[in-house]
Amino acid sequence: MSTKKVTKIAVLTSGGDAPGMNAAIRAVVRTSLYHGLEVFGVARGYNGMIEDDIIPMDSKSVANIIQRGGTILKTARSKEFFETEGRQVAYNNLKKRGIDGIVVIGGDGSFKGAQKFSNEFDIPCIGIPGTIDKDIAGSDFTIGFDTAVNTAVEAIDKIRDTADAHDRLFVVEVMGRDAGYIALHSGIATGAENILIPETKTDMNALITALTEKEKRKKLVNLIVVAEGDEFGGGTQVGNFLKDKLPNADIRVCILGHIQRGGSPSCLDRLIASRMGYHAVECLLNGTHNVKTLLIINTNPK
Ligand code: ATP
Repeated sequence: MSTKKVTKIAVLTSGGDAPGMNAAIRAVVRTSLYHGLEVFGVARGYNGMIEDDIIPMDSKSVANIIQRGGTILKTARSKEFFETEGRQVAYNNLKKRGIDGIVVIGGDGSFKGAQKFSNEFDIPCIGIPGTIDKDIAGSDFTIGFDTAVNTAVEAIDKIRDTADAHDRLFVVEVMGRDAGYIALHSGIATGAENILIPETKTDMNALITALTEKEKRKKLVNLIVVAEGDEFGGGTQVGNFLKDKLPNADIRVCILGHIQRGGSPSCLDRLIASRMGYHAVECLLNGTHNVKTLLIINTNPK
C-alpha cells in the first residue's frame, strides 16, 4: 500500500488489442475527472511513455467510444521498455508532468512491465486485464474475451452451414495464444465434434478412429475446433494430418484469425471494462498499489 496521494494519472493500452479497451479508457478518464484528478492518455503502450507521446484527456476526448473496438490510444509492444534505460526515459517523461499514478490496460506481459516500473520508481500502477485470451490468473473475466468468443461462434455457425451442404469436415482454428478458452467455449457452443486445446494432450489416433467410425456411418459433416496454441501445432497441421489419414474425406481448414480481435464490444465486455476502469482509479485513490483489478464471479452474493 502506498500512502502517497495521487493527483495525476496516466492511462495506456499495451500488448494485443481487445474489444472493450475503449470502454475501459473512458471509465478511467471519467472516474478520474469525477474525483478532480488530472488524467493523461499515453499513445502506443509503453512506446508513448518513452517517446513522450502523452496528451491530457478530458471528458470529451472519450465521448462516443464505448461502442468502438480497437483502442483510441493505439497499442504496441515496446522493446525499449524491457531495458532499464528505456524505463528511465519513460519515468522522466511522466515526472516532468507530475504524473504520479498509472493504469495499464493489457495482458500479463504488460503487467510484468508495470510491476517492474512501479518497483523501480515507486510509482503506483494498476493493471486492467484486457485480452481476448482470458489468460490472466485470478480473474474470471478479461476485457475482450466475450466479444471474441461470440465472433468465433458466429463464424463457426456459418462454416457449419457450408460444411453441411457439402458433407465436409472443417478444421477451424481460433485464437488464444497459449490458452484454450476461446476454442473450448466456441467449440462447445457450436456443437463441435472435437475441440483441441493446449491444456490437454489430444490422442490423435483416437481421433482418427472416431472419425473413421463416423465415415462408416455416413456421418460426413464434422467440425473440429483447434486452439492456435494446441500442442499438435494449430489448424493447418491438424488439417494436413487428417487429410493424410483420411484420404476419402473432404477436409477444409479455416483460420479465423484477426476477425476475432475486432468489432464492437459485447454488452458484457462494456460492463466489465467500465467496472474495472472505475475500480482502477478507486484503487489508486485508496492507496492500493501494484494490483490487477480482478473480477471473480461471486458465488455467494449477500
Ligand atoms: P497480450 O496477452 O495481448 O499479448 P501482453 O500485455 O501480454 O498482451 P506482451 O507483448 O507480453 O503483451 O507485453 C507488452 C509489453 O509489455 C512488451 O512489449 C513490453 O514493453 C512490456 N513488458 C512485457 N514483459 C516485460 C518485462 N518482463 N519487463 C519489462 N517490460 C515488459
